[in-house]
Amino acid sequence: MTEMKFATKTIHAGQQPDPTTGSVMTPIYQTSTYVQDSPGNHKGYEYSRTGNPTRNTLEDNLAALENGKYGLCFGSGLAAVDCIIKLLKPGDEVISTNDLYGGTYRIFTKVFEKMGIKFHFTGMDKLENIESLVNSNTKMIWAETPTNPMLNIIDIKSLAEISKKNQLIFVVDNTFATPYLQRPLDLGADIVMHSLTKYMSGHSDVVMGAAICKDEKIAEELYFLQNSCGGVPGPQDAFLVLRGIKTLHIRMQRHCENGKIIADFLNNHPKVNNVYWPGFESHFNHDVAKKQMHDFGGMVSFDLISNKLKDAIKLVSSTHFFALAESLGGVESLIGHPASMTHAAIPKVEREKTGVVDSLIRLSVGIEDVEDLIEDLDKALNKIS
Ligand SMILES: *Cc1c(COP(=O)(O)O)cnc(C)c1O
Repeated sequence: MTEMKFATKTIHAGQQPDPTTGSVMTPIYQTSTYVQDSPGNHKGYEYSRTGNPTRNTLEDNLAALENGKYGLCFGSGLAAVDCIIKLLKPGDEVISTNDLYGGTYRIFTKVFEKMGIKFHFTGMDKLENIESLVNSNTKMIWAETPTNPMLNIIDIKSLAEISKKNQLIFVVDNTFATPYLQRPLDLGADIVMHSLTKYMSGHSDVVMGAAICKDEKIAEELYFLQNSCGGVPGPQDAFLVLRGIKTLHIRMQRHCENGKIIADFLNNHPKVNNVYWPGFESHFNHDVAKKQMHDFGGMVSFDLISNKLKDAIKLVSSTHFFALAESLGGVESLIGHPASMTHAAIPKVEREKTGVVDSLIRLSVGIEDVEDLIEDLDKALNKIS
């Protein structure tokens, strides 16, 4: 059989009817351990930290979606980050972006810096910033694209070239894009990391993470760390993510359609100043986005003409369908205020350098009827000065 295409993979990759019952859906193997006929003589499973059939099915599905060979799941996106950074040792250095997801920034600077790993943060949308930071201790490049909350686009292929030239491990956090929009391994990345909590599971009902790679040696090290450190998810959650992924392609298609309409609406609204969305031709790296992404996604950020904190707070507290909440990527629309929520720990001068001003608002545009979403935003915008 020829290789499955993307939408077929979301539904079928790694999955077959259960051989003992014919169950079409992957069973939830709610067990910690597996019987052995004699010591070491078993059916491939010994203990559920090491391997569980429900989790392994999801891991195989993820590997297929990212065009990788090996998939590993973790109890959260940050547990996946934790495992990947443990490939390094004290003295090693990592180059990353200066508008990284806040939780990733926190584990890098507050947990791993203490253990002797050094992190550099730079504007990765400009490639010349990166090469100047590479030295003999550099071991890893960690990128995220589109970035949060500014929706900057980083050129994956060019970063992969820098990475190869300097023999670095190149990791891409693909949470915002998902493999529906971009597949970093095809563009030369070594490891793809996910918070499955977001678009991949898609229904705001589970917290989980993943790492996917093609290289056998990296995979072996990651499997060793996954089993040794033990941050694995349970089978119930693995089932939920498997079910969510079955509609990834149609959800993403609608997220993108709605995202475009909302971005255009905001761009023409008299109370809105900048709108950040990689689909605009005026976006700084629109050409790169067009090249490496299949579409532009449902994340849209904007700030207000007034740029007043109180206006932003009033706006995010006034919407009805856009629920004020952390997270993103669910079927329902969410609204957030980075300066007081996700980026509250970053000093004002620092956050403003990257565009996170007092009135910046981030939308995770859901898959509701877009007319309802626009009416909701318009009403809320008209309540502010
Ligand atoms: C949410 C998120 C994470 C962390 O994942 P959790 O599942 O919350 O631990 C990492 N990176 C990005 C881009 C995220 O949005």
